[in-house]
Parts: sequence; structure tokens; C-alpha cells
Amino acid sequence: MGELAIKSNSDIKLSMPVQFLKGVGPARAEIFAKLGVVTVGDLLEYFPRDWVFAPEPKKISQLETGETAAIVGLVESTDFQNYRRPAIFEAMVSDDTGICRIIWFNGGYLRDQLRPGQMIMVWGKAGEYKHQLQLTNPKFRIIEAATKKGPDPFFFNGGVYPASGGLSSMQIKKIIRPVLDNLGGLVGEFYDDEFLKKAELIKRKDAFGWIHLPPDEGKLAKAKRRLKFDELFLMQLGLALRRHRNSQFASAVAMKSSDEIDRRIRKRFPFLLTEDQDKTIAEIVADMQRPIPMNRLLQGDVGSGKTVVALYATLLAVANKTQVAIMAPTEILANQHFISIERYLRNSDVKRVMIAGGLMGKKRDEVLKEVKAGDIDIVVGTVALLEKDIEFKKLGLVVIDEQHKFGVHQRAELRKDGTPHCLVMTATPIPRTLAMTVFGDLDVSIIKHSPPGRGAVVTRWVAPEDRPKAYEFIRERLRAGKQAYFVYPRITGIEEEGDIKAATDGWRELSKVFGEFKVELLHGRMSSAKKEQVMTEFRRGKIKALVATVVIEVGVDIPNATIMVIEGADDFGLAQLHQLRGRIGRGTDKSFCFLFADKETENEVAKSRLEMMERSNDGFEIAEHDLKLRGPGELFSTRQHGLPDLKIANIIDDYDLLVMARRCAFELVSADPMLTVPTHRNIRQSLITKFGDSLGLADVA
Ligand code: ADP
Ligand code: MG
Repeated sequence: MGELAIKSNSDIKLSMPVQFLKGVGPARAEIFAKLGVVTVGDLLEYFPRDWVFAPEPKKISQLETGETAAIVGLVESTDFQNYRRPAIFEAMVSDDTGICRIIWFNGGYLRDQLRPGQMIMVWGKAGEYKHQLQLTNPKFRIIEAATKKGPDPFFFNGGVYPASGGLSSMQIKKIIRPVLDNLGGLVGEFYDDEFLKKAELIKRKDAFGWIHLPPDEGKLAKAKRRLKFDELFLMQLGLALRRHRNSQFASAVAMKSSDEIDRRIRKRFPFLLTEDQDKTIAEIVADMQRPIPMNRLLQGDVGSGKTVVALYATLLAVANKTQVAIMAPTEILANQHFISIERYLRNSDVKRVMIAGGLMGKKRDEVLKEVKAGDIDIVVGTVALLEKDIEFKKLGLVVIDEQHKFGVHQRAELRKDGTPHCLVMTATPIPRTLAMTVFGDLDVSIIKHSPPGRGAVVTRWVAPEDRPKAYEFIRERLRAGKQAYFVYPRITGIEEEGDIKAATDGWRELSKVFGEFKVELLHGRMSSAKKEQVMTEFRRGKIKALVATVVIEVGVDIPNATIMVIEGADDFGLAQLHQLRGRIGRGTDKSFCFLFADKETENEVAKSRLEMMERSNDGFEIAEHDLKLRGPGELFSTRQHGLPDLKIANIIDDYDLLVMARRCAFELVSADPMLTVPTHRNIRQSLITKFGDSLGLADVA
């Protein structure tokens, strides 16, 4: 240790490896690296997970009932009283003046943390229980051997860092201290005083100082607010710059539209378009008329009529003598698109082809040749179309239907020699927070209302013991000519306490229960040909009950199927349940969704999901609820979208700051697109650190 150590604290630089800091040798540098901390700058952004504001410790004999105080003492004994309600974790702590009883309600988690023989500092409200001094639910801190001499306020108060693999919070505090002493030279301000005042933000350098070592809770709150704002601001700047780059450096075919073209396209649809469809089409047409590539997200609940809108855009591109690639996440879904396109384009001379796994050898070569020659107008397939050996003569539009899989959205690559317009469709309503972050550089069109004349969908959570009743109900519907989906969480599996969760087992069982009907199985491990055959027979009504895994989750559109049974419904996420339910309610008849799951479940989140499903059919409401249940971290990864991780801000809780940051960022980019104005130097530097070269800022000095 120490070889690399710097001579004077004022030599510390943000870009310096942490190993240059005192107390960090190769071993600790490695631990830090695992925590994502490589440079001093990273260390400054390694924020505490909690903060402590303990008063000056007192002797136990001086404690008075009712006061909030801190004591330092030895853990004499511990006891977990699990039989009590609530369960109590008790510790007896002594100093040279007396002994004090400390209890934590529901403190089972403390069994691994507190042990007799430890020195701890405890603070909380002092009370009395059966004439005995007692602290209830206090905060505490274990005092390490090195500091046994006496409590130094620096080490007790302030941040508590997420500790890891042999690097304690206390050690991190010691390591970061010299950095905090030099903040003035390390942290450059982003904004002028006027803005700071107007936005009620403290200085950036103070924010870093106070987040690690807050003098009081008020200052900590201010520090958090400033750092959250900066984090969101930099993220939004990245998005604003990406957008700017798209409009500056890429060109697209400016499509021409006319009343004649519009009339010809609309003639293809056997219905009048809804108001929402008209509105989104107008937005898309306006985009496609510009020589800048469209980057638009079309969102609308399942069955809201997005395919029709996408087909309009497709036909506009074809009318402009360009080709269109339509891509879906799975082959079943791609095929579904192809079938509906076929329906609308019957007797049209628009050339379309489906490129699927089944298309091989010579036949495939021929098709590819035609695509390359420009003889084919529309190519439908999976997202593999973008990657494979497929060459277009003049690709004008890419339509990507990603349904619920919006975490993986792909875009057409930027090309200087002409980038296709890009329309991304998603059936998962995107909460406003995500629309502003992971999709923050796309334009968004929303279809809110589905076409009229849809039957209602009734959803019921059914306990397993009521299964026979539900089966009887379904039998009657099937006799009346309706069709049903039965969805299972797994293809195969073990039966758990009579609870069938695997599709293959379910199929065997349902084939008996509904012996008078044709019951078939569909899952992802079947061959393409077999899957296709089953889907075709189901579509034609020959198969009455389809037993499947989530392969049928997306896009399947069979109005006569009015029943959806979801087995093991508590195993599914909310978005997925809603997607599955979207397969029914597509015709004019009333539909029924049965969610089979134990009602005695202890899983509160699962319970909340199923109750939400019973209560609401509104995809947007469900998406917001889902985001709250799961938290933003689980629903999307910012990294995956080329955005830096959020370390302190949270797009749900900090929504107001997000809105403000977004406005400021977009204003800044329109005023100074490459951030070359000298006062924007610090912002620019931070952006380059966060985003690397991906924004193209580094090219411009
Ligand atoms: P999505 O792609 O959003 O799931 P689709 O475009 O597949 O929805 O439309 C779902 C169903 O609604 C289809 O059967 C389609 O024919 C029908 N549909 C779409 N637009 C209209 C409309 N304006 N009026 C009546 N029916 C429509
Ligand atoms: Mg669709």
C-alpha cells in the first residue's frame, strides 16, 4: 500500500484512480472497482445509503425519561423473543455508570448484527418499562476496535456507506475525507447564481460536501435535491443531444403525401378510423414528410388499432417508392402481422413477403434477391431482419412492433447515406416517467381509446377450490361456439401440492375435462411448423381450447376467443397479466378472464397485482401501478438504453425534478447544441465522463 499515494491532498483529481488515495492499496482498489468506484470522481458519487445525526453521547446514569439521547456501551446480552407479538429483539447495554435495556420491535434481522461483547453507540428516545430504563427502536452503530478509545463525532455522524467485502462504511469515510477537504478545486459549478437562486438549488460543491458529511438534516435535504437535479439534468441532456444529433447528421427520404394517396390508403380499411388513429397518423405523416428520420413511439393498449396505423405509414412509404421492413419479437407475431396485412391488401399489387425460419435454401435466396432488386415492397419478419444478410434497394421505413418488450427496443442504425424512418409500436402503456427517460429521445404518439363496439372484459381471481365451477362455466361457453385460452407459467414442471403450473400437465388434464372439444398445446419448444399449424386451426375455430405458455402473450388476434384462464396467476407480473388478458375482448361479445391463484397467499405484491387486475382494464393505470410495485430499477435498466445509471435520483419519487431537469436540458441544447459556450464547460466535461463518446461531444474541441 502507499506506493501510489499522492503527496499532497491538493493534488487530488477527479479522474485519478482511487488507488492514489491514502488508505487504498491494490486489494481495496479491487473492492472499490467491484462497487463501481474506479476514480476519485466515482468515489464522490458513491453516496451514503443512510445518514446519522446522533447527539453527543451521555452516561447511562444521566439519561432522563422522555429525552432523545445517545449512549456508548458494551452489549452484555442479547435475546430474540419470537413468541411475542410483535417479536422483540432485546439487548442489555452497560457502561461504567449503569445498564440499559434496549428493544427493537420486529428486530429479528438484528440477530446477525448484534452480539454480546460488542461496543455500540445507540441513540433514540429514552423511556421506562416496568421501572427500568429502556430505549425503544433506537438507531445504533457498532464501534470498531480501532475507535474503542472514544467516539469521534466524525465517525458516528454523517453518511453510512453501503459496505462490501471487507471494506466497512467507516473505512470508506476515512478514505473519502481528504477528497471532501478539496471540493473547491474538484467540483465545478454547472449553473450561474441567478439560475441557482430561481431553482432554489445550492452550489454543486456544497452538495457533494453535505451529502457525505451533512452538518444537519436540512442541509442534507438540500444536498440531495441538488445532486438529484444534476443527475436528471445530465441524463436529459444526453437525450436532448441524441435527438439533436439525429436531426443534424442523418437524412431520410422526405415522403410526399396527398389527398389521393390518403384516399387510396384508407380505402383498404373496412372501417372508419377512430379519432385517435387519425391523430396519430397525422403525427406520423408530418414526421415522414421531413428529410429527418422519424423516431416515433406509437403506444396504445392491445387491440387499440396500432397495426392499422402502422400499415398506413407502410403504405405511404410504398406510395413513395420505398421499401418497408416490419419486424416483431417472435415469429408467431410476425406471422400475425403478415396475415392481417394480407387481409387489408387483398387484390392490391403491393408486393409483400414474410421471411421466417421456414424459408430456406433456394427459395430464400430468390426472395432476398428480389428484396435487393427492389421488387418487393414490404418485408415482414422478426427483429433478426435487421441483423441478417438482408439488403434492401431503398428502405424507407422500419416498423418495429415490440409489444411488451420495450426494454429491448431496437432502432434503425443511423446512416449518413439515408436512414429509414422508424416507428416503434408498443402495447405496454408507458408510464409518463419512462416516456421521459428511457424513451426520452423519441416522439410519442398515443392511442387512448380503442375502436368502438368491443365487448366488456370481466376479470375474476379464482381460488383453486373453485376451479370446477369455473370449468363448468367455460364448458357452456365452448358449447356456445366460443374459444378459450389456458395459459401456464411453464412448459413442463413438477406438480406442487396439486397445483398444476406446467402447460403439458395442464393440457393432459384439460383434454379430459373438456373431452368433447379439441384441446391443443402450444409452446415455444415446438417446431415452427407445428406452432403454425396449431395457430391456424385455432384461428379457424377447429381447436376450441388452446393450452399455452406465454408464447400467446403477444399480438394474437382472434375475436371469437372470449375466455382466458391464467393458471398460477401469482407467478406472473402485472404487465404480463394485462398483456395476456389483451388476447380476449377483441370481439363484440363479453369476455371473461379467470386468474387462478391461491387466495391465502402471503405474497402481498402478488395479491396487489391480482386485485389490480380485477379492478382495472386501463393499461395506463396498470402500468403506473406496476412501476410503483416494482420500482423503476427492476422495470428498466438505464444502461441498456445507453443512459448512465441513476445513483441518487428516482424517476418516480423525483418526478417534479425530472420535469424541471428535462425542460432545462432541452432549452440548453437548443441554445448551445454542442455546449461550446465557455460557461457550459463543466457541464460538458461531466457529460463526457458520463456518456463517453456516444454523444459525439468529444469530437468537437
Ligand atoms: P393493436 O395492433 O393495437 O393490438 P389492431 O390494429 O390489431 O390493434 O386492431 C385490433 C382489432 O381492431 C383488429 O381486429 C382491427 O381490425 C380492429 N380495428 C382497428 N381499427 C379499427 C377501427 N377504426 N374500427 C373498427 N375496428 C378496428
Ligand atoms: Mg396488433
